[in-house]
Amino acid sequence: MIKRKEALILNSFDYGNTSKIIHILTSNSERVSLIAKGARKPTSRFGGNIETVSLGDLVYYIKDNRDLGILKEAALQQFYSEVKKDLYRLNIAFSFLWTVSRIPDPERGLFGLTKRSLTFLDRGFREEVLAYFLLSLFQLSGVFPNLKNCVVCDSEEVDFFDIASGGSLCKRCKTNTAILMDGWQNFILDLSKGRLRVWKEYTFSQRGILLSIIYRYGVYHIGGWLNRLRDILPFEIIPKER
Ligand SMILES: [Zn+2]
Repeated sequence: MIKRKEALILNSFDYGNTSKIIHILTSNSERVSLIAKGARKPTSRFGGNIETVSLGDLVYYIKDNRDLGILKEAALQQFYSEVKKDLYRLNIAFSFLWTVSRIPDPERGLFGLTKRSLTFLDRGFREEVLAYFLLSLFQLSGVFPNLKNCVVCDSEEVDFFDIASGGSLCKRCKTNTAILMDGWQNFILDLSKGRLRVWKEYTFSQRGILLSIIYRYGVYHIGGWLNRLRDILPFEIIPKER
């Protein structure tokens, strides 16, 4: 069946003497692998249109129940050129694509989230986009923390946050692993809604602690495999556990 889809190129690698295999995330959040025959020949019609970290309109042929399709046409839509000029932001972009490639059951909405996150990076935002990406991933996966009420007794007076409990706790229900919230509920809610400018209103240390909490929350609630995200990210982004 011939398909025409808007898609993000998650990664690409050389195959045989002249071809490439690309992994894509389509606009309906499906992951597909495609062979781009002759893509490494100088005269290839795919040109630079199938590079990792780009958005394109792709036409491909894939048989039902097959893992690998054949790329027919590729038109570049967005190259994220600002991201590609900055290794720091490029590594954050790679961390999104890495996560998208490995998440066991890609949810509807994953394509939109990844595309928005890359656009934020391209506009100059940096590690705040990682916070946005992970928080939105929690929403898509149905594990977003409960911030307004104590997850145990439903009290509205919440001062603590506990990763394992999945959200806020009051003084009475607080566990040994709970962290003082310091009024960060709004910070987290703003970031999750894409209001990334609030990032600058917090101190360097507060941002670091927040990213560390969000990251550990993801490892706990999304899956231990997410731990390896740290190997891709610039080392200073997620502070070591204290
Ligand atoms: Zn409580």
